[in-house]
Amino acid sequence: MTPFPRFLDALYQQYAGLNDGKLASYIPELAKADPNWFAISVVTLDGKQFHVGNTQQKFTIQSISKVFVYAMVLEALGREAVLQTVGVEPTGDPFNSLIRLDEASKRPYNPMVNAGAIATTSLIPGENASDRIERMLTMFQRYVGHEVYVDASVFVSERETGHRNRAMAHLMLNFGMLEGDIDEALDLYFRQCSVLVNCQDLAVMAATIANRGHNPLTKEQAVHPDCIRDILSVMYTCGMYNFAGEWAYRVGIPAKSGVSGGILAVVPNEAGIAVFSPLLDDRGNSVRGVRVFEELAQTYGFHLFDLSMGRCKFAEAIAQ
Ligand code: GLU
Repeated sequence: MTPFPRFLDALYQQYAGLNDGKLASYIPELAKADPNWFAISVVTLDGKQFHVGNTQQKFTIQSISKVFVYAMVLEALGREAVLQTVGVEPTGDPFNSLIRLDEASKRPYNPMVNAGAIATTSLIPGENASDRIERMLTMFQRYVGHEVYVDASVFVSERETGHRNRAMAHLMLNFGMLEGDIDEALDLYFRQCSVLVNCQDLAVMAATIANRGHNPLTKEQAVHPDCIRDILSVMYTCGMYNFAGEWAYRVGIPAKSGVSGGILAVVPNEAGIAVFSPLLDDRGNSVRGVRVFEELAQTYGFHLFDLSMGRCKFAEAIAQ
């Protein structure tokens, strides 16, 4: 088999010229991204790293943050309490769909669609707004292993143009699905989406999840291991917008994407993988990102239900 660094380089070259898709533009700041940015990062549980392309280029984490905030409130409040506020049922709808609130159970469907993510964020514990911001940032820092910052201009842009998210929060307030100060919850939600990361950070975050919450580089426990099964389950069923089913079928590992062009994916017990490329398909997923993951799954057989390859195949194969 081709050595993994060579394989990654070839994969990068193969898709660097693919210019299908569009930059997200519903938040004006996101439209300023360079469509040529492209990066692939892999981090294994024993700390090996493989990087190609613009892996240090910073971008806002966007919807990928939803996974980590969900883990944070699961850890703080426990599964049953969180389930009362947000369900775990996929919707098959776009991320910002307004209509999908489960009025019967008085919950948004799942924590990966915006309504569910805003409800999840509203559960972040803390003394006051700045304490909650602080806890949220510290939480991200445990996963990436260094300080993180909010991109102020993306945050302001989101806050000023986030009418749809505001409407959703008001609707949930009306249905009794949200409590407390919704403007503060929205502010915190816009802020979590505006946290700056790079592709390497995303791979480390994914590897931390793959390692049951233990950051393989810093050796810090980022989240209690008991939360991992729950977050991987919702990533698997709801993580890729209205492409989640097809992704599960073709790639077969839990993942989450965001509108700035990142995709973070977890090969459980083996590695974290991230791709960054801001040109999006019409479901909001990175075009090159999806293609890269399809190729990786095809070549390394890490689809969770690919039983022909035995266990621990990916980490072993790329170590050669
Ligand atoms: N900040 C974005 C929003 O709520 C997140 C979108 C995304 O990455 O899916 O509109």
